[in-house]
Amino acid sequence: MKNGKCPKCNSTEIYMKHGGLQQGYVVHVSPANTRLVTTDDYICLNCGYLEQYVPHVRIVLKDLATTWRRAAAARGESTR
Ligand SMILES: [Zn+2]
Repeated sequence: MKNGKCPKCNSTEIYMKHGGLQQGYVVHVSPANTRLVTTDDYICLNCGYLEQYVPHVRIVLKDLATTWRRAAAARGESTR
């Protein structure tokens, strides 16, 4: 998507804007620790597929990994 090509329909009608869909999201790192994060939004004008990226994620949300679960571990828990 960032390369200008849609991964769903292969269209090159991709447009990007920082804070395009929403000026910010409140990210709950933990109950007492929240951040306002604005994303880089990429949208395909052919099929409507949307991708959002947090710019500088390792700086902005550096402590998120202390309270959020890694996806592979969370997936394993759901199969119990
Ligand atoms: Zn598309």
